[in-house]
Amino acid sequence: DMKKLIQEDRMISLGKLVASCVHEINNPIQGLLTFSHLMHTILEEGDPGKEDLEKFKKYVSLMSGELERCGQIVSGLLSFSRESPIDYAEVDINDVLNAVISLTRHKMELTDIRLETKLSSRPLVVMGDSNQLQQCFLNLIFNAIEAMPGGGELLIVSEQDNVSKNFRIEIRDTGYGISDEDLEHIFDPFFTTKEEGKGTGLGLSIVYGMVKNHEGDIQVKSRQGKGTCFVLTFPKL
Ligand code: ADP
Ligand code: MG
Repeated sequence: DMKKLIQEDRMISLGKLVASCVHEINNPIQGLLTFSHLMHTILEEGDPGKEDLEKFKKYVSLMSGELERCGQIVSGLLSFSRESPIDYAEVDINDVLNAVISLTRHKMELTDIRLETKLSSRPLVVMGDSNQLQQCFLNLIFNAIEAMPGGGELLIVSEQDNVSKNFRIEIRDTGYGISDEDLEHIFDPFFTTKEEGKGTGLGLSIVYGMVKNHEGDIQVKSRQGKGTCFVLTFPKL
């Protein structure tokens, strides 16, 4: 009896995106201003002591953190932009999944996550951009890993539907799940329940956009404390 949400077609309005982007980037910028001000103060006082140098070092590293965050937000936003080149070619979704699995396997082992894969024995070829598809599955798998900090199980299935002939990819975790209330917002840009600095809230909105670029669909089922299941469907080539 998992609560089910079918994501309806929806355009992410540019105005809304710009407004939240300004807000998101403003936070690290305020941080940068504060730290640069503190660093100036140290320099103006002249003859910095050992303690001052330690502070100075700390500010530099905090600033790098804020800049990294700005970078994450900017590169996340780039994925929304139509300028990011889409390079359509024949892609086997199983190849993409295998690549993403090898990229994330180590991270899973570190957190005691057991991976089970049931990939279709036949290739699932779509017209797609392999980089976008890779990014898409990476975002979903990273979310699943982050939802199981104490370990768990990740199931990845790929198959062709007997009736519709569409391709179906399922990514199922046994993580902390998503509340019914949050489920309505998870695809919104900048929506995150992760602690400050941990998540940009852009992952799923990027996934959503990329799935739509491929004329696919995304559905999610989740139950708090039990786990979450994302199902992506793509039309057969
Ligand atoms: P971020 O990961 O930066 O928070 P995302 O757009 O990737 O942003 O995800 C948005 C939110 O959706 C997350 O903060 C989390 O609350 C929820 N979420 C996404 N995937 C999962 C999952 N597999 N299990 C539990 N919650 C999830
Ligand atoms: Mg994420």
